[in-house]
Amino acid sequence: MTDSKEVINIKDEGEIRKRDDVIGWDDLFMGIAFMAGTRSKDPCTQVGACIVDENKRIVSIGYNGMPEGCNDDVFPWGKDPNNPLKNKHTFVCHAELNAILNRHGADIKGSTIYVSLFPCNQCAKLIIQSGLKEIVYYCDKHAKKPSTIASKMMLDAASIKYRVYVPEKEVILVDLAKKVVNLLTKSSDKDHDTT
Ligand SMILES: [Zn+2]
Repeated sequence: MTDSKEVINIKDEGEIRKRDDVIGWDDLFMGIAFMAGTRSKDPCTQVGACIVDENKRIVSIGYNGMPEGCNDDVFPWGKDPNNPLKNKHTFVCHAELNAILNRHGADIKGSTIYVSLFPCNQCAKLIIQSGLKEIVYYCDKHAKKPSTIASKMMLDAASIKYRVYVPEKEVILVDLAKKVVNLLTKSSDKDHDTT
């Protein structure tokens, strides 16, 4: 703490300055959502979510997967339209649900959820009832499906904001072997397909 009555100038000419090229909040939290998604065993779609409170503190993460105790070598990963018991949608917990349930009792009212795929109608209900105020999403590839249309109907009615993630740094390279992190901006078109 600096005494306001006695400001001491500790800076010298030519002193090393702080880094300005740091990762932005949205890049950090969406990056963490993506990292969480890499834990998913789903062979088709890996979705990650990261809940952040109003003070930019990470409250929880989640990814899509089978419920606790439901062996993911036994339960189905296919999408058999004729047999719900051989269809993953009957069983899988979505990333948003897991992130909301993983919060260890923390109050998430007013928080923001970063998620790699636009929430479905079931997750929209959870988001609304949990008091989340904002969704930042990466991909909306199911925008024309009734589940996404219903999701937006409910979110709009509940005045929950949603916005597409716009990366500041388009490549966040974490090379664990070399202990190097690189933040890169590319001019190439973004590929928004996460599957
Ligand atoms: Zn969902």
